[in-house]
Amino acid sequence: VARSVDPIERLILELARLPGIGRRTASRLAYFLLKGMSGKGAGQPSLAVDLAEALLCVAREVRLCAVCGNFCAGETCRLCSDARRDPHTLCVVEGIADLLAIEGSGSFSGRYHVLHGALAPLDGIGPEELRLDVLAARVREGDFSEVIVATNNDVEGEATALYLTRLLRPHLKGERPKISRLASGVPIGGELEFLDQATLGRALAERREI
Ligand SMILES: [Zn+2]
Repeated sequence: VARSVDPIERLILELARLPGIGRRTASRLAYFLLKGMSGKGAGQPSLAVDLAEALLCVAREVRLCAVCGNFCAGETCRLCSDARRDPHTLCVVEGIADLLAIEGSGSFSGRYHVLHGALAPLDGIGPEELRLDVLAARVREGDFSEVIVATNNDVEGEATALYLTRLLRPHLKGERPKISRLASGVPIGGELEFLDQATLGRALAERREI
């Protein structure tokens, strides 16, 4: 949005770019933020200022974890830094929202890897775009005996799972290495992030080997 427009109008236009926020809601939010700047408490640090600072802080400090691709503020994320997590099980997901959904189910305590997409050759998304060589190197150099491929239950997710199975199987350790997919409960074409926690937890517990 151009900086030359009226500041309130600019705020409304920016808010309206958020998912699920239409022009009306954007306008309501903008005027809610402005309320703290007038009348009682004017000039005090307001929600608008706090929010602006939080946004700038996130934009400056948050990056992707060098190990798993999750968001983090340092070199590695809190999940990768947590030594109590199982170093032998790796869960591969398409997006950070999927990681959060699985983590929210409380049914998984291993390690994660975020692909930031799924294989979609027609859209120009191949193994290089998803940096699958980095994932292969992580599994080769690590001590994983199981990989759970928790990609979405759609065409791209299935194709990605198949590709990952071939790519990662040779690098697994242990007596009985396995690669698994989430079990029933994940609807065809379904996206993980929209599943309720109980369904996701069960799909994880009843995962099937591929
Ligand atoms: Zn990480």
